[in-house]
Amino acid sequence: MQSTGMAAKAADTPLEPFTFERRELQATDVLIDIHYCGVCHSDLHMARNEWGVSQFPLVPGHEIVGRVLATGDAVSHLKIGDVVGVGVMVDSCGHCHSCSRGEEQYCETGFTATYNGDENVIGGKTFGGYADNIVVNSKFVVAIPASLELSAVAPLLCAGVTTWSPLRHWNLQPGQRVGVIGLGGLGHMAVKLASAMGAEVVLFTTSPHKGVDALRLGAHQVVVSTEPEQMADVANSLDMILDCVAAPHDLDPLLATLKTNGHLVLVGIPDAPHAAPNVTPMVFKRLSIAGTSIGSIKETQEMLDFCGQHGIVADVELIALNEVETAFERMLKGEVKYRFVIDMKAGRA
Ligand SMILES: [Zn+2]
Ligand SMILES: [Zn+2]
Repeated sequence: MQSTGMAAKAADTPLEPFTFERRELQATDVLIDIHYCGVCHSDLHMARNEWGVSQFPLVPGHEIVGRVLATGDAVSHLKIGDVVGVGVMVDSCGHCHSCSRGEEQYCETGFTATYNGDENVIGGKTFGGYADNIVVNSKFVVAIPASLELSAVAPLLCAGVTTWSPLRHWNLQPGQRVGVIGLGGLGHMAVKLASAMGAEVVLFTTSPHKGVDALRLGAHQVVVSTEPEQMADVANSLDMILDCVAAPHDLDPLLATLKTNGHLVLVGIPDAPHAAPNVTPMVFKRLSIAGTSIGSIKETQEMLDFCGQHGIVADVELIALNEVETAFERMLKGEVKYRFVIDMKAGRA
């Protein structure tokens, strides 16, 4: 199955047009005509081999939405024409402790990543969504509610479920207070989802100008985290914090804002360790610091259904596939509100 898209051929060269082979449709697979693909920060890290694991050529993209073009013989829950999504995972072992609990994102042998993962049928590496089509095991394909604007759904497949999963896992309840650290691609989804769940959302930012936008997106309060007085005002007031900042930072001031039994949940992966937190307040307030990685396929579907009911999509800026490098540069400068999404049909003959 031929596919055309854009690939990084090396860590230090721009993405360029690339034609490659997808595996032929297996019995449990679907072939998807990709309409939109979100541009996640991971794509940039991987295209430039900043995590040291990239294999080239590399076709990024794991926030994929499109329509089913063909289904394998054993696929019964999806049909041609269905609007579907694919996120960060396209397979997992299926039988380890995590997989048997329906938590494929924690597969003990590692899930198969949508790109730069091991392609287990034809060998080589998986190629992602910066392309015109993809062949995926239907168990890793989710249904998109018809009510949602398709171009703005794409970021839900990574940024959406990555923030949804911890809010659900730590059982955020209406009326509880949740802190969101950082208003980027992840943070803006956390604000939207948590406020739609009925929580009171406090957005922490180092950029005071982001306050207006945070309130528009659903935050109830904005705290400039570099202002000690503002931090003191929210001491001992939060049930949970979702920390969406990847840059190394001091966790102690955040722990001080948690109530007894509170959770500080880390979503970002810092490129250097955070300073070790002071454990004394953790002991005296029974606090926990936890981490979380994307979400399961079941959670992804639940999140999409919730977004369908509440009319939630990401705030996006559409680009054409050949504008990805410009998008990368603007992401590095923080110039995106809040996710670039590639329109695969734009500029295509
Ligand atoms: Zn991502
Ligand atoms: Zn597994």
